[in-house]
Amino acid sequence: MKNISILGATGSVGTQALEVVAANPGLYKVAALTAQSNSALLIEQARAFQPELVVIGDECLYEQVKSALSGTNIRVAAGEAAISEAAGLSGVDLVLTAIVGSAGLKPTIAAIEAGADIALANKETLVVAGDLITSLAKTHGVSIIPVDSEHSAIYQCLVGEDYKALEKIYLTASGGPFRGKDRDFLANVTKLEALKHPNWVMGAKITIDSASLMNKGLEVIEAKWLFGLETDQIDVIVHPQSIVHSIAQFNDGSMKAQMGLPDMKLPIHFAMAYPDRISTDFERFNFIDYPELNFYKPDTSTFRNLDLAYTALRKGGNMPCIINAANEVVVSAFLQDKIGFLEMSDVIEECMETIQFIAKPGLNNYLETDVHTRIFADELVTK
Ligand code: NDP
Ligand code: MG
Repeated sequence: MKNISILGATGSVGTQALEVVAANPGLYKVAALTAQSNSALLIEQARAFQPELVVIGDECLYEQVKSALSGTNIRVAAGEAAISEAAGLSGVDLVLTAIVGSAGLKPTIAAIEAGADIALANKETLVVAGDLITSLAKTHGVSIIPVDSEHSAIYQCLVGEDYKALEKIYLTASGGPFRGKDRDFLANVTKLEALKHPNWVMGAKITIDSASLMNKGLEVIEAKWLFGLETDQIDVIVHPQSIVHSIAQFNDGSMKAQMGLPDMKLPIHFAMAYPDRISTDFERFNFIDYPELNFYKPDTSTFRNLDLAYTALRKGGNMPCIINAANEVVVSAFLQDKIGFLEMSDVIEECMETIQFIAKPGLNNYLETDVHTRIFADELVTK
């Protein structure tokens, strides 16, 4: 039985991971569950899965969770530091990091230092501090197994391959709800339109990132660290059907793609079960339902975020951290109707030009960059 903790258990990835646990009795034991503010769902999950520890990020909700779980053997804690404590619980085989945003960084470090393998959904952690996280994982002999569907695809294509033979990868992008639209159209789109993803049901932040192509930008950076690639070895191709989840190309010209219906439970299950493959009753892909699979070049003059992410990756240092923090602020501002869709890229670009660049950052530099960028971006969005 695999002992597994889920950080961000109440989110889109977290709840699907618990569905996988429930569907496979005897395979997984839940050690710790965390949430930020959804105490009702966390309590329900704790009762159903009987973890050793549950943590609610918002300390004001501690008493509520504690009293709801009194009379059980479940330990309850609250606050940011307690989330890292949950991540670093001893005796855990795998920590699924499904927190959204750079808030996942410190808990991921705690999990790695405790020697647990990481099933990584929280891509922002690798965007912010990919060098630090991957070298820490190496030091502690910890595997990072991607949950993000594109990276899971590449990971699956690389099983049994020598990474040195990998020439390049193609990350596929659905193009989101605004594929094919121009800047005049985008100037007036609402959050409700942006939240309607054509193929995936996900948390609000990543859904907006998908509409703005920032999600693909973050994924390019994530891929660099997961697979040890140079920027020029990572390409993005728009594939509206989201059936080909990504493609690995080798040095003999051969290409491998991983395919399947767009269902996050598949990569979640793969990461949880790895190195095993466990049978599922998930709906199977049928070629006859998809007579055409299409592929297009991304429109980066309309959707500027992808180019901004490539620029950040080429620049290196704390630049990806800057882009991530600025993006978290603008997405939240867009969701609160404070700024328009196109302004998101403008604010991010201004942060990249203004925040102090650090070529070789350490953890404290990343944490400070995150704070400084948020303050500056906040000023820009409230101007
Ligand atoms: P959700 O917004 O649905 O869930 C986020 C989870 O993190 C919730 O449990 C939330 O708690 C918790 N959380 C939010 N803020 C904080 C914080 N400051 N500190 C600690 N915990 C916090 O996100 P998703 O599940 O969509 O995404 C999670 C991660 O997985 C993201 O990094 C995303 O990019 C990545 N990902 C998601 C995919 C998807 O299909 N959803 C696909 C690929 C990657 P609460 O509910 O209490 O607010
Ligand atoms: Mg993805």
